[in-house]
Amino acid sequence: MHAPTKTLETKEKQNILLVDDRLENLLALEAILEAPHLNIIRARSGNEALEQLLAFEFALVLLDVQMPEMDGFETARLMRSVERSRHIPIIFVTAISKEDIHVFKGYEAGAVDYIMKPLDPVILISKVNVFLTLDSQRRELEKTTKSLRETIAQQEEYKKVIEKQNIALKELSIRDGLTGIYNHRHFQELLAREVALANRHDTELCCLMMDLDYFKVVNDTLGHPFGDFVLKQFVTLVKEEIRSSDILARYGGEEFIILLPNISLNDANKVAEKIRTKVETHTYKDGIRSSNVTVSIGLYCNRYHSSENGSENGSEDLLRFADKALYQAKELGRNRVVVYGPESSDEHLVCPE
Ligand code: GH3
Ligand code: MG
Ligand code: MG
Repeated sequence: MHAPTKTLETKEKQNILLVDDRLENLLALEAILEAPHLNIIRARSGNEALEQLLAFEFALVLLDVQMPEMDGFETARLMRSVERSRHIPIIFVTAISKEDIHVFKGYEAGAVDYIMKPLDPVILISKVNVFLTLDSQRRELEKTTKSLRETIAQQEEYKKVIEKQNIALKELSIRDGLTGIYNHRHFQELLAREVALANRHDTELCCLMMDLDYFKVVNDTLGHPFGDFVLKQFVTLVKEEIRSSDILARYGGEEFIILLPNISLNDANKVAEKIRTKVETHTYKDGIRSSNVTVSIGLYCNRYHSSENGSENGSEDLLRFADKALYQAKELGRNRVVVYGPESSDEHLVCPE
C-alpha cells in the first residue's frame, strides 16, 4: 500500500480507494485507472479500508465483494454507519453472477454501482469517471455555496452598517450642529404636520418666534465663540420651560421658534413670558467672560385669529403672524412678548407693560 503523502490532501487531485485482499487485483485495477489527477490508495482488507476512510477524503471506493474476515458488503455497511464516509460512492467489484445483482439493492441509490470480474477496462473507466465527475461537481458546488454564504453574511454586515449610518445621517440632517435642536428645514416638515393635525382635529396650535436682542453686540464685544456659547445656553434655558411635545427649532442665526400644540393662547403667553424672564435674569458665564442677553418674542395662536379669507390656518399664516408680532416686539423696544391680533385692531397686540 502507498504511504499516504501530502498530495492526498491537495484539493485539485481526487482520491480513490481500491479495496481487495489480493495484491494482483489491486495492481490490475491501479494499472487501468492510473491518471495524473488521481491519488490511488490501496487497502488489503475491510478494516484497512475503514482506516483510510478516516484518514482521507475519498471521491470513490472500489470495493471487492469477496474478502476473508470482512466482506465488501459488511465493509460498505460500516462505511454507511459513519457520517464521514456515509456519502462516498462505492463501486462493488464482484465475480458473482448478474442474477445475484439484487444483493446491491438496499444501498443508497445513485451512490452505488457494480462491475463484474473479469474487468473490462472501458466499462471500469467510464463508471469511475461518472463518479469522479459527480465528486468534482459536488466540491465545486460546496465551494460556491460557501463563498455565497460568506457573501450573504458580508452583505448582511454591510446592510447593518449602512442602516446605522443612515440613521446617524438622518439625525444629523435634521439637527442644528451648534445647539442640537431641529434645524429650519426639518422644522418646516414638522410644522406642516402639526398644522394639518390641528386643522383636522380643530385643536389649538401656538407659535413662538424668538430673536435674541442686540446679539451682534455680544459677538462684537465678547467674540464669536462666546456668542456660540450663549446660543447653546439659551437653548438649554428654553428647553426647561417647554413640554416634550413642543417643537423647538433654530430658525436662523440667533432666531428660534417653538410650536406648542394643544395649548390656549393664555397659557402659551405665560410660557413665552417665563422664557423671556428666565433669559433676562440669566448671566452667561464661560469662565472668562460673562454677559446678559434679552430676547424678544412674537406669539401667534391659530385660535386667536382665523385667516383673512376665512380659510384654515396654514403653516405660512402661523409663521407670518408670529413674525409680525416679533417685529412689533422689536419695534416696541425689545425684551418683550407680543401676541399677534388682526392688523385692523391694534389692541390685539398685547405687550407686557
Ligand atoms: P436685534 O435686536 O435687532 O435682533 O439685533 P441683533 O444684533 O441681534 O441682530 P442682527 O441681525 O443685526 O445680528 C444678528 C447677529 O447674530 C449677527 C450674527 O453674526 C450673529 N449670529 C448668527 N448666527 C450666529 C452663530 O451661529 N454664532 C454666533 N456667535 N453668532 C451668530
Ligand atoms: Mg437679534
Ligand atoms: Mg435676527
